[in-house]
Amino acid sequence: MITLKESLKLPQEEIAEIRRELLREIEERREIGAYVEQLTDQEISQYMDGIPIAIKDNIQVNGWEVTGGSNILQGYIAPYNATVINKMLNNGLAPMGRTNMDEFAMGSSTESSFYGVTKNPHDFSRVPGGSSGGSAAAVAAGLAIAALGSDTGGSIRQPASFCGCVGMKPTYGKVSRYGLGAYSSSLDQIGPITQNVEDAAILYDILAGHDPKDSTSANIEHAKVSDCLNPDKKLTIAVIENYLAEASDDVREKMQEGIKALEKAGHKIIYKNFINSKYDIATYYVIATAEASANLSRYDGVRYGNRTSNESLKEMYLSSRSQGFGEEVKRRILLGTFVLSSGYYDAYYIKAQKARHFIKHQYEAIFEEADLIFTPVAPTAAFEFGSKKDPLEMYLSDIYTISLNLAGLPGISVPLGKNNQGLPIGGQLIAKAFYEQDLFDGAMSLERELALK
Ligand code: GLN
Repeated sequence: MITLKESLKLPQEEIAEIRRELLREIEERREIGAYVEQLTDQEISQYMDGIPIAIKDNIQVNGWEVTGGSNILQGYIAPYNATVINKMLNNGLAPMGRTNMDEFAMGSSTESSFYGVTKNPHDFSRVPGGSSGGSAAAVAAGLAIAALGSDTGGSIRQPASFCGCVGMKPTYGKVSRYGLGAYSSSLDQIGPITQNVEDAAILYDILAGHDPKDSTSANIEHAKVSDCLNPDKKLTIAVIENYLAEASDDVREKMQEGIKALEKAGHKIIYKNFINSKYDIATYYVIATAEASANLSRYDGVRYGNRTSNESLKEMYLSSRSQGFGEEVKRRILLGTFVLSSGYYDAYYIKAQKARHFIKHQYEAIFEEADLIFTPVAPTAAFEFGSKKDPLEMYLSDIYTISLNLAGLPGISVPLGKNNQGLPIGGQLIAKAFYEQDLFDGAMSLERELALK
């Protein structure tokens, strides 16, 4: 598949031809389920001259259906473009098709989508990761040059790791959330899923920058990273020892190879530990569900979402939401409502906010000595469909990715190689807030060194 960098040099006729080829390929390989449904005429022909980029089904493209993978939004047409879509259009890129995702971005496997599952292109019996599983599968299967995903607790990085592509989550506030279906507003960020690190930097540069339409957007000038990529920069990189100890054998082995590659590239490796990281999951799931319960209250069949017909108003609210939402989304709304209820607010929500600060401080302490942190992306490679029936077990697959969102930091998932079952395994680099340049430089040196092996 042609890279984003290469496609930026092509004349418009060739781009249109690539788009046509991709559309043929997508139809032929519908079995993967990377895209949510048959592409509409509008999705096919509206933007023939822009470099086609696959879009997660929670990012609005004016006039296109957008559903967040949910039943409740079936038939909902986006009334405006998300800021990231306008930025793409201004830079010669264009949306192409909606990719599958866990309902309202809640999940780590893309199994909770209303549209059904997406298959991991490396092994059809396994999940592509989630929640941006469709975007990662599309890039990995050669069904997209690059894709947009959203990351609240790992939903870009973890599917990228499971599918063997690069996925990057920007510093909180770097990329506008205007036009992104909100899951947990203090954690959500849109970011690129690409075939390589340089493409991720190029797409990130296009997406990033201040947006007055998003009140949490950082009001600072965006310095382009893709123009200054320097894989020869020597950095100090901290490895989190207790994370390595907890990961599965194949992940640990690939991580060791990654550490060796980073050393060989001339970086200095130091070892650190995260104290009490076992509470990260609890902290995340209290905060994320609290925010989600508030954000999803708008889908009530009156303001947004499909309405059922009932005798009374109360019944209508109840049945619209009961029929519209899937099981995992309901679980999270209940959990979020519970932790915010007046009797439990201090015990759960306030406690989680304190824990969030503690996590942020731990990162700051490590970043006094290190430029980057290197960790696994997920504790295992891609798992089989239906293998995580207990929701808590599913939540554990986010153990290495969520703390970064809680601290607002940027992170990138880089393929480290495959295990002996042929499944990709990714490594994660984390940088200080707004130090995306270091992040991409380090990631590029890791990618280059591993390719030389
Ligand atoms: N798997 C995590 C969750 O279910 C992260 C999802 C995400 O990043 N959108 O909340």
